[in-house]
Amino acid sequence: MSPAGAEQFGFGPAEALCRAFAQGSLLVATYDPDDVLQYASAAFRKAFRLDGSEGVLTFADLILRSAQAGFGPRIDSGDVATFIAKTQLRRRSRPGQRFFTTDMIDGSWYWMTETLLDDGWLVLVGSEISPLKETERLLAAAHEMAVYEATTDALTGLPNRRKILACLRSALAAPLSEQMPMVIALLDLDMFKNINDEHGHLAGDAVLCDFANLARNLVRRSDVIGRIGGEEFLIVMPHTTVHDALLVIERLREGALGREVITADGTQLRYSVSAGITQVSTRENIDDAFERADRALYKSKRLGRNRVSLEI
Ligand code: GH3
Ligand code: MG
Ligand code: MG
Repeated sequence: MSPAGAEQFGFGPAEALCRAFAQGSLLVATYDPDDVLQYASAAFRKAFRLDGSEGVLTFADLILRSAQAGFGPRIDSGDVATFIAKTQLRRRSRPGQRFFTTDMIDGSWYWMTETLLDDGWLVLVGSEISPLKETERLLAAAHEMAVYEATTDALTGLPNRRKILACLRSALAAPLSEQMPMVIALLDLDMFKNINDEHGHLAGDAVLCDFANLARNLVRRSDVIGRIGGEEFLIVMPHTTVHDALLVIERLREGALGREVITADGTQLRYSVSAGITQVSTRENIDDAFERADRALYKSKRLGRNRVSLEI
């Protein structure tokens, strides 16, 4: 509506707005240049529990009063004075519009548009967006779940092949000093086919889970272990010398030997693991490093299994 149009209709448009705000769900408030609340729509009065008996209320009074009584905007820090001071700075810094979301103590969310006019009057309009926020929350949770499933091995809960290779790739791409020296270890359960053949696939699965739990607890915080396929695992060990990697992987090999997995029919199963480790050079091609680790693993198998070999 042009100013000319407003003149033409006199107080009609303003009155129509007031009537709409008296019935609708919009939070509408108008503050004068001294920041005194001069107008509040019905929804605003309800949200801030105003019944007309409050007398003169500035924005600061309004927030303080609602925070003390446990309603109004949520103030995460709990520090109401700082919240008011910071908000005041933003809302009256310069004429124009600001858009933001506000969540209330009762769990509802609002999309706010605040307009500071040249003469210091300030108009706030808020629409409730709680259902949108709920959809956003559900989408975020679904996305998090999808990412988890795409990067996690369903049987053992370890990072899957895609994830552990991505970890290796990003470790190799990091600035040299951050990750080096770095070692990778390939591990493969010994004679695993026999376990499946003699005790069934479920018993084999139980052994895989047992080894995953053992490894999860034995590797250091900075190491990452993932299941790269069947009964094969990869450990990426940044900031690690070959000497230290040997200690960690030996500890894992010995740990596996001491394990006992009880199958559904009560049989006690034992298993062992072979490993191949290699140092990764800076900016090295992943395939080359893998091939060396695989050669080291093959050496362990050839020498009789249940051992750790190194290939430089
Ligand atoms: P080696 O000591 O030379 O590694 O012998 P191995 O028997 O462990 O190796 P092989 O590659 O012959 O057999 C691996 C077996 O792992 C065959 C396959 O059926 C089994 N396997 C692969 N994935 C799974 C799984 O998810 N669960 C179970 N239970 N078995 C699996
Ligand atoms: Mg294998
Ligand atoms: Mg094997």
